[in-house]
Amino acid sequence: MHHGPVRFRNVAVFDDETRTFRGGLDVFCTGGRIDRIALTGTPLDVPAGTREIEAAGAFLIPGLIDCHVHLTSAGDPDELGAIRAEPLPTRAWKAARNAAATVRAGVTTVRDLGAADYLNIHLARAVEAGLLEGPRILAAGYGVTMTGGHGHGFIAVEADGPDEVRKRVREQLRAGASTVKLFASGGVMTPGVDPRSPSFTLDELRAGVDEAHKAFRVVGAHAQATEGIKNAILAGVDSIEHGVWLDEEAIDMMASRGTYLVATLTAPWQIAHMGTEAGVPPYMVEKGWQVLESHEASFRAAIRAGVRIAMGTDQGTPFNRPGDNAQELARMVRLGLSPAAALLASTAWAADLLRLTDRTGRIREGLDADLILLGRDPLADITALADPAAIRVVLARGKMVVERIPEAHPPEAT
Ligand SMILES: [Zn+2]
Repeated sequence: MHHGPVRFRNVAVFDDETRTFRGGLDVFCTGGRIDRIALTGTPLDVPAGTREIEAAGAFLIPGLIDCHVHLTSAGDPDELGAIRAEPLPTRAWKAARNAAATVRAGVTTVRDLGAADYLNIHLARAVEAGLLEGPRILAAGYGVTMTGGHGHGFIAVEADGPDEVRKRVREQLRAGASTVKLFASGGVMTPGVDPRSPSFTLDELRAGVDEAHKAFRVVGAHAQATEGIKNAILAGVDSIEHGVWLDEEAIDMMASRGTYLVATLTAPWQIAHMGTEAGVPPYMVEKGWQVLESHEASFRAAIRAGVRIAMGTDQGTPFNRPGDNAQELARMVRLGLSPAAALLASTAWAADLLRLTDRTGRIREGLDADLILLGRDPLADITALADPAAIRVVLARGKMVVERIPEAHPPEAT
């Protein structure tokens, strides 16, 4: 894997302001950062050993940001049942494999919203220390849910009353959580929990959000039921995860307060359409179909109203595999988002939600070298991002984790 300086020559660069590609640029990266962006032909002294990539006709975009994943899960159909029986080291090795698959697909940053045994926090540290290949990981530790609420027993700890919620959030922060997850309603994946029912009260949510924000952490709230969504918005969460039953009032509240929607369209779609014949438990399939229609209608209404959108897949739910994250962009576009907006939701806007604007999400001098070189124009065909053959290079904080480019100078015969 190449770690040294890289120069993309004569490439078209995605500009988040004009929402178009600007051609004829050289982009020089060193020390893990984007060092210099200049018109091709501008003299630039690059150090010996710089990898020169002739990129005429190719497209450079920021690395993707998935705001909702579970890297400890590979997306097997009934992984919930299996997970609890597996020894911790086995789960850790699988998580390492999932992290590598994610970054090699061009997803250079993720927010992991819940894992047992703080495995997501340990994984984030292992990647940060250079022990493992993976994306930058913001990890929540466990999510926090009410007794018997969605996520309990696998990715969430239980709490009742504002004081207990506060304590559980503090425990995640003590363990090293860099983001916080709260559960504001029922959901699809937990047996016996109704996605239409709200869970934490407004006071409980306020306590959790307050603790997180005091520590400068971004809060994502799992919220499918209308009342749960409204409670979460009023409590001041940064993002509504899923947002299945958004009514007009909820949409107005989100638009006026700037609350992000991380819809995770892929999750219920895959659960419902793969179905019991593929091994998804019947209770999940039933609930998947129950949420699907409203979920898509809510997303359409939210984008019409100008609600802020950030991309998230809920990777780890059945048939929602690490490395397949970019299918979410195609789903968003199918429901009415423009390809440029889908790309922004997966880069610049996602970075803004995660408070990483000064680190990643855009192609600017000084930001981390999180970049994808594509052989096809994603604005003409958004599915290019989900096509491994179109992804020529992935740089993750300057490390070249994917390199599928023809040799600039073919080796000479000896
Ligand atoms: Zn999730």
